[in-house]
Amino acid sequence: MVHFVGAGPGAPDLITLRGARLLETADQVIYAGSLVNKALLESCREGCRILDSAVMTLEEVIEAIREAEKENRTTVRLHTGDPSLYGAIREQMICLERLGIPYDVTPGISSFGGAAAALRTEYTLPGGSQTVILTRMAGRTPVPEGESIAAVAGHGSSMVVFLSAGMLPQLQEELLKGAYTPSTPTAIVYKATWQDEKIIRCTLGKLAQAAAENGITKTALILVGEFLRETPDDFLRSRLYDPTFTTGYRKGTDRA
Ligand code: SAH
Repeated sequence: MVHFVGAGPGAPDLITLRGARLLETADQVIYAGSLVNKALLESCREGCRILDSAVMTLEEVIEAIREAEKENRTTVRLHTGDPSLYGAIREQMICLERLGIPYDVTPGISSFGGAAAALRTEYTLPGGSQTVILTRMAGRTPVPEGESIAAVAGHGSSMVVFLSAGMLPQLQEELLKGAYTPSTPTAIVYKATWQDEKIIRCTLGKLAQAAAENGITKTALILVGEFLRETPDDFLRSRLYDPTFTTGYRKGTDRA
C-alpha cells in the first residue's frame, strides 16, 4: 500500500494528524527532498527505508515502491505542501494503477495557505476579489497559452504565483499586461512557515527589484492583489457575521 501524504508548507507541526501517523508507521518513506522539512523524518520508525526523490526519476520511485510491495511493506510518498498542486503525483498514480498497487492520498496544507497565514491576510475579502488564481510562469514546463500570466492577470483577482521566483522581471512585466498596475500591492513570501521565513511587501512596480535586493531566487510565492492592502479602500465587513443578516443558523434583525 502506498500513502501519498502532504507534508505541509514547512513547519514540521503543520502536517496533518493522519499524515504524521502514516509517517510514524511507514516501512519506507520517499520524500521530496528539495522542499520537505527533514525534521519530519525524525518520527520515522527504526529501520524505515528513507529515500530522497530529488535525485530519483519516476521509474526509480516506482521501482522502490514495487520492491517494498513485494515484501508487503508500506510506502509513504511525502510531498511538499498539498500534493495536488504541482506535485507530479498523477503520473505516479497511473503507474501504480497499472501495476495493481493500491494507494490513497492524505492532503496537506499548501504553501499558499502558509503564505496567507504569514502575512495575516485573507485572499477573499468581502467587497474585494472572490477568486484566487493559483498559477505559475511557463518555465521548462509549458503553460497553455490561454493561461499565460498576462491572460489570467486580466481578472485582477487575488493571485498566487508558484515556481516563478527565478523569473521575476518577466513575471512583473506579464502581470502588468493584465488588470494590475505598478501600485498594486504585492508580497514575496520566502519559505513560509519555516524558521527562516521572509516576508517582503512591495508594489508590483518594484517586485523584481525587491526580490533582487533581498536575494530571493527560489522557494518563494508571489502574491498579488488588492487584498494585500493594509486597509483596503473598499473594505466591507462580511454579511455572515452582520447582526442584521439572517442565516440558516442565526436570526438577524432583517427577519428574512
Ligand atoms: N505542492 C506544493 C507546491 C509545490 S511546487 C504546495 O502545495 O505548496 C514548489 C513551489 O511551491 C516552490 O517553487 C514555491 O513557489 C512554492 N513553495 C513551496 N513551499 C513553499 C514555502 N514554504 N514558502 C513559499 N513558497 C513555497
